[in-house]
Amino acid sequence: MQNNIRNFVIISHIDHGKSTLADRLLEMTGTVAKDKMRSQYLDMMDLERERGVTIKMAPVRMIYHDYILNLIDTPGHVDFSYEVSRALSAVEGALMLVDATKGVQAQTLINLELAKKQNLTIIPIINKIDLPAADITKTEKEIESLGFKTEEILRISAKTGEGVKQVLEKIVSVIPPPHPQTPKNDPQSPFTALIFDSLYDQYKGVIAYVRIFNGEIKKSDKIKFLAANVESEVLEAGYFKPQFEPAEKLSNGEIGYIKTGIKDIAQIKTGDTVVPIMRSPDHQIIALPGFSLAKPMVFASIYPIEGNDFPKLKEAIAKLKLNDASLSFSMEASKMLGAGIRCGFLGLFHLEITKERLERDFDLDIIVTQPRADIKYENSVYHEPYVRLEIVTPQNYLGRIMELARFHRAIYKETKYLSDRVILFFEIPLSEIIIDFYDKLKNISSGFASMNYQFIGYRQSDLVKLDILIAQEKLDALSQIVAKEKVEFIARNLVKKLKEIIPRQQFEVAIQAAIGGKILARENISPLRKDVTAKLYGGDITRKTKLLDKQAKGKKKMKQMGKVEVPSDIFLKLIKRD
Ligand code: GDP
Ligand code: MG
Repeated sequence: MQNNIRNFVIISHIDHGKSTLADRLLEMTGTVAKDKMRSQYLDMMDLERERGVTIKMAPVRMIYHDYILNLIDTPGHVDFSYEVSRALSAVEGALMLVDATKGVQAQTLINLELAKKQNLTIIPIINKIDLPAADITKTEKEIESLGFKTEEILRISAKTGEGVKQVLEKIVSVIPPPHPQTPKNDPQSPFTALIFDSLYDQYKGVIAYVRIFNGEIKKSDKIKFLAANVESEVLEAGYFKPQFEPAEKLSNGEIGYIKTGIKDIAQIKTGDTVVPIMRSPDHQIIALPGFSLAKPMVFASIYPIEGNDFPKLKEAIAKLKLNDASLSFSMEASKMLGAGIRCGFLGLFHLEITKERLERDFDLDIIVTQPRADIKYENSVYHEPYVRLEIVTPQNYLGRIMELARFHRAIYKETKYLSDRVILFFEIPLSEIIIDFYDKLKNISSGFASMNYQFIGYRQSDLVKLDILIAQEKLDALSQIVAKEKVEFIARNLVKKLKEIIPRQQFEVAIQAAIGGKILARENISPLRKDVTAKLYGGDITRKTKLLDKQAKGKKKMKQMGKVEVPSDIFLKLIKRD
């Protein structure tokens, strides 16, 4: 039964053509009708289509001759690596794409490493051979230097379809079918399924994306989520076509979904094991190895603009987490901003996407505080997270990259060679790279360098707390902990930016940056001239705010912070490059 199943992912650096190759596979297997086809078909979220980037893994089942092919398309951006790592645990093979005009990049390396760890069969593929700038020989050399043989490498154009037939043939011939006796198999259980993703449906409750490792699962089965210890029933089981398509049952080795009716979303987690509610209580069910938790890198707090939206925000984040296992959060209260939620993200792009999903999918108006690394203050010393940074670059940008790294307090470790390009390794404070390091790297290397990083631990650092005073009032949410050697530079920059961001008020506003009582930088915002609200000046503040709010409607969401009103995107504006 399962001998004809092939489960695989497509992995690569961002933009190397994963979703486009998936399009060709969907077409050639007749999974999507010609008139329904559109580019990057599996990027189904509006957000993905607008930005032209895959955020979510996307499973789809295809039929090719006598074979069932379960493909999972994955995101390439470093901030969504957790999606990739979970997808890898549901499959036996991986198509590794390398863009012939770009060569092997940082994200290719990390995904390859992850795939090897899972013992997947990897098919190396050079893509975009139709482009005049394609350098096939050079790309081959680079792939060979990763340990592959020349004759294993396929050369294709996902755009024109050239060579894609061979990809299908190769999938069938080299990727092993799901093994009936995997270590994950528990022969005593009628079925065992691993949840590798999930989402919340208003009517059907939690929908779990599962890989079956044992037995079969069907409608009306009584099930239990092992770790969550929640019991339920299968309302519907089915396949991804890629839309949900009900099926009679899901069998060992297959990938599909189950609708559970569970509304209590807080407990269900990806990585959990689904088993039947057993009649015999003696049988000890073995949980499948789940996933290690995603390590949040960047923290920021989210507050509703309207305080009474807080319950709505809380629920929205819990629902979003079901569909984004890498998101972490805890409750928080700020004197200035009220009740909020402190969230951990894998990076700035992840934060940005989360914000947009909350605003769009849940219709919330929110304010997101400045993203930061998790700096600890203990026994009057600061400790900050460090990462191992890996930069892949052509050699001619070495000098400029070294200079950029030094400016960001990086410690150079070593160089490795990838055919005739290099991989540079550094240890660097996380706080130095989360904001605009990647943009700068792209700029100085004309887009050719790419990077990747992994947390290595906390280290003691010479940091200071820089406070921001606006109209003589210290605003905690704006305080920052920064490297002592850079504090003057940062202080001047910050007040300058705040002056641009904060609109004029009814009174003159001083913006100051200070360490303790010592002022390092200052700017003034001159007062507004008389206008509609002038007669309310000094009067009831809420009335005035309401009036201003009305004026701002349709224009810009404002938030009262201390004595001044600021745009709700103040924190995100602060980190935008000048
Ligand atoms: P992903 O990020 O790996 O999913 O990459 P996409 O599939 O979204 O493709 C990124 C860009 O490369 C899109 O503009 C595609 O049209 C383009 N692309 C993908 N494959 C090919 C190819 O074989 N040839 C050419 N010329 N362009 C391609
Ligand atoms: Mg994609």
